[in-house]
Amino acid sequence: MDGFIASTSRAAKPLRPLTLLIAAPRGFCAGVDRAIRIVELTIEKHGAPVYVRHEIVHNRYVVDKLRQKGAVFVEELDEVPDGAPVVFSAHGVPKVVEMDATTRGIDYVDATCPLVSKVHRQAERLVEQGRHILFIGHRGHPEVIGTFGQVPAGAMTLVETLADVERLTVDDPANLAFLTQTTLSLDDTAEIVEALRRRFPAIAMPRGEDICYATSNRQAAVKELAAQCDAIVVIGSPNSSNSVRLVEVAERVGTRSILVDCAAELDLTWLKGVDTLGITAGASAPECLVRELVERLGRHFAIEERELDGVVEKIIFKLPRALEPA
Ligand code: SF4
Repeated sequence: MDGFIASTSRAAKPLRPLTLLIAAPRGFCAGVDRAIRIVELTIEKHGAPVYVRHEIVHNRYVVDKLRQKGAVFVEELDEVPDGAPVVFSAHGVPKVVEMDATTRGIDYVDATCPLVSKVHRQAERLVEQGRHILFIGHRGHPEVIGTFGQVPAGAMTLVETLADVERLTVDDPANLAFLTQTTLSLDDTAEIVEALRRRFPAIAMPRGEDICYATSNRQAAVKELAAQCDAIVVIGSPNSSNSVRLVEVAERVGTRSILVDCAAELDLTWLKGVDTLGITAGASAPECLVRELVERLGRHFAIEERELDGVVEKIIFKLPRALEPA
């Protein structure tokens, strides 16, 4: 009865129009897709629990879903009971972790993204050639820890900023090389590389691009989006390097941007004055979170949704042989 009185006494206020532009490509990359599949298949093969060293990918929703299916996330192998299967995360692990697993007889599956493994192999080769590596990356990120762990201590120096380049002291400038983390900002990295080449003209460059295709494509897409929007919502977790970079790239273009883990996290007052809102998602954020945000906005605004054209990604990474279907 109360509801009836309310609906007749107040005319429904028309919803404010809001145009939604959706970036393409966005969301899951091939490395994330493969890593999640590896955990699911390992649970199917061995039954729960399956231990995963570090968050398989940096996304809260993905981690919670896998936890519900029987994954147990740990930071170190000593948290894993004897005899339990283990998956290594997509970010890669130092060699010593694999050696420890082998010594303990742990049945492990390595979900390291093949593009991260490629950087590992490059690092090994450069050290074999007698070069010292300057590694452009973010201190403390598991991918950086994993890559440093491929070479002897002291063979690699971390470079995070332009100021770091100026401060560098090296023993043999004629025998240097640089490598990068896969999920960096293309623009920031280009500036650091330029500074390195200015200071050390003989520095060897990686043969291919280390910043991966998914990071590059998502940054190009968010740049295009930023040029057409009043504000941008990036869906991703705060510890996801490539998601945080998307916010930075959009802000560099001059477009106000925010990172949210899920639709419910977005404070709608943040949309004050926004007529055209861009939406994208980091490489570890699933598409269902984008749809959830669009649906929530549809309850509060008269939305019109359009997806931008972008690169169509067809890359698929093979599963480890042990998990391939028979
Ligand atoms: S973001 Fe790039 S390096 Fe990281 S998992 Fe995806 S494809 Fe691999």
